[in-house]
Amino acid sequence: MERGAGREGIVAILRRMAQELIHEILPVGMLQCNCSIIGDPETREAIVLDPGDEVEKILVLIAKHHLKVMAIVSTHAHIDHVGGLKKLHDATHAPVFMNEADLALYQAMEMQAQFLGVRPPQIANVDDLLREGDVVRWGGHEARVLHTPGHTPGSISLYLPEAILETEKRDGTAVKTAHEKSGAKSSPWLFAGDTLFAGSIGRTDLWGGSYPDIVRSIHTKLLALPDSTIVFPGHGPATTLAEERASNPFLVSR
Ligand SMILES: [Zn+2]
Repeated sequence: MERGAGREGIVAILRRMAQELIHEILPVGMLQCNCSIIGDPETREAIVLDPGDEVEKILVLIAKHHLKVMAIVSTHAHIDHVGGLKKLHDATHAPVFMNEADLALYQAMEMQAQFLGVRPPQIANVDDLLREGDVVRWGGHEARVLHTPGHTPGSISLYLPEAILETEKRDGTAVKTAHEKSGAKSSPWLFAGDTLFAGSIGRTDLWGGSYPDIVRSIHTKLLALPDSTIVFPGHGPATTLAEERASNPFLVSR
């Protein structure tokens, strides 16, 4: 901080520090996985989370905001979240990131497709592995990687310490409600994959799932974040950590 910035100066600096982001949520595919596009309105750099399917629609939104995709991040390797990785990579040339502990699951796409009774999607090359504490950067923004195993061994969540919405969301109502509930214009954001949902948590009966692990992940990693954190789950509406802490039947302690 500059010397003698004064009150006005400090306010301006704090305002600059607050992140402004473009955010589009697009539920894709048969299981309506929430694909998120998070863009920097100044540099137009963006990341895409969980392009599970319907890559053409994702590309339309990317083009609408004139974004350049810098990274494609997979919160976990279930077929409904990774089905479009290869197509989106081919279209954008952006690197594909996931956690090492889900690579085997990603390679087992035929088995997953058979389980759902669908055709297996093509597999992308995973360009880099995301570990606990890694930081994904694009434009002037960054997200911290939390390894949150349980739904799958390699499930990760992305945490953006402070974010301000720049554009109207596709999922406008849910997000606006979450903002109102949090009582703040600027709040941390959490992309929780299938670890935490509004009123529920991820299933743990599929390949490599673990109920004790998901409960531990939520309590030690997610509930450690501020109450005002807006949670964007891998399926369904947005929520806040305060709301889930108070009313999620899987988290409320007896
Ligand atoms: Zn899943």
